[in-house]
Amino acid sequence: MRADVLVVGGGPAGSTAARLLARDHDVAIVEEHRTPGEPLQCAGLVTERGVPMFARESVVSEVKGVRLHSPLGFALTLESRSSRAYVIDRSHFDRIMFHEAVDAGAVPKLGTSVRSLADSAHGVRASLRSEGKEESIEARIVVGADGYKSICRRFSGLPSPKHMLTGIQVDVKCVDIDPDFVEVFFGRDVAPGFFAWAIPAGDLTRLGLCTWDASDAPAVYLKKLLARPQFRGCKRVSTTSGKIPIGPGRSAVGGRIMLVGDAACHAKPLSGGGVYTGIKGAELCAHTASEFLESRGRTTLKAYDSLWNEEFGKELSRAFRVRRIFLNLTDKKIEKALRIFSDPAVKRLLEKQGDIDYPASLSPAILKLAPRLLQFSPQIVESLL
Ligand SMILES: Cc1cc2nc3c(=O)[nH]c(=O)nc-3n(C[C@H](O)[C@H](O)[C@H](O)COP(=O)(O)OP(=O)(O)OC[C@H]3O[C@@H](n4cnc5c(N)ncnc54)[C@H](O)[C@@H]3O)c2cc1C
Repeated sequence: MRADVLVVGGGPAGSTAARLLARDHDVAIVEEHRTPGEPLQCAGLVTERGVPMFARESVVSEVKGVRLHSPLGFALTLESRSSRAYVIDRSHFDRIMFHEAVDAGAVPKLGTSVRSLADSAHGVRASLRSEGKEESIEARIVVGADGYKSICRRFSGLPSPKHMLTGIQVDVKCVDIDPDFVEVFFGRDVAPGFFAWAIPAGDLTRLGLCTWDASDAPAVYLKKLLARPQFRGCKRVSTTSGKIPIGPGRSAVGGRIMLVGDAACHAKPLSGGGVYTGIKGAELCAHTASEFLESRGRTTLKAYDSLWNEEFGKELSRAFRVRRIFLNLTDKKIEKALRIFSDPAVKRLLEKQGDIDYPASLSPAILKLAPRLLQFSPQIVESLL
């Protein structure tokens, strides 16, 4: 089989690239699972930017704010008048995104996995396996949208993520949660290297956490989260787990392989959210790939790197620096930092201008209002200014 573009992975990033490219080019989209969106590996908290209009029916609730809990008991509530984020049914969302790509003309190959990639004279040859049978596809370009364990990343020679977060989550039936707020819990005993969450999702609540460089498995911390008084007695409906790669290199292009989404380590370092950046990156990748195909190779695929770096790459690297400060905070210092954020002027700024997709972009303004934050890591904090 031949295609202009082979998209590997039918998650939000792959389906977006396939949908946009299939309008003018021959596209095949290969997904190793038989049903897109399964198994589920997401809490489903996404801003409006990350949910295209045609996928809005996957929204199960909306939230107006967040409550940040320090490990020592202090809680900071940030609230806005209107909805700040959607909570989506991620499996439903992925199915819609995939079907839109197919409707646009992409040829789907479900239950098929890419095993290896090799450069050939005019593109890339991919070896696939489907129900025990081997086949190959010759493509002029490969879009690697194959998530955290990306085989495309391996064959492109691009670097591994700086940090790999490990996550676990349960959907529970609970009565005692404010439907307008996401709860976030910090602490070395709560979720080392990241945080735990409680997200209202319609009739259910999503309780989960990610860890990094932790001494125990995520399930150990989840057990502690479920033992908190407000969650005790909640009935467990389902459990999911997964990984989130964060900290990309400068380039997401290796030869004729372009990486998007988690394969490119484009998830946000402060929240672990990767749906928005996956979709945005896929749009930019599709634009560059399309120009390359139409110009018969006279433009360069590397143009994609300038586009994603400009759009969200700078934010990712700034957010990664903020993460390094966070990793050095003791429980006592987390409490101290949250109290500084509760200063009325800082709180007002966060509530009015805080952007879940670009949280680190606000750091210079916050530091101007609260220079006391410099105490946590003067060198890194100054580099944010
Ligand atoms: C516990 C947890 C909670 C999260 N919560 C949120 C959240 O609330 N909000 C948010 O924005 N993000 C969240 N994320 C991150 C988010 O899920 C990812 O960033 C997002 O799914 C990335 O999209 P993607 O299309 O790049 O990759 P994926 O969604 O991982 O899709 C990759 C696809 O490629 C397929 N694939 C892999 N290898 C191959 C192969 N060799 N051949 C063929 N197919 C292959 C996989 O089956 C998969 O379908 C969370 C992640 C975890 C683990």
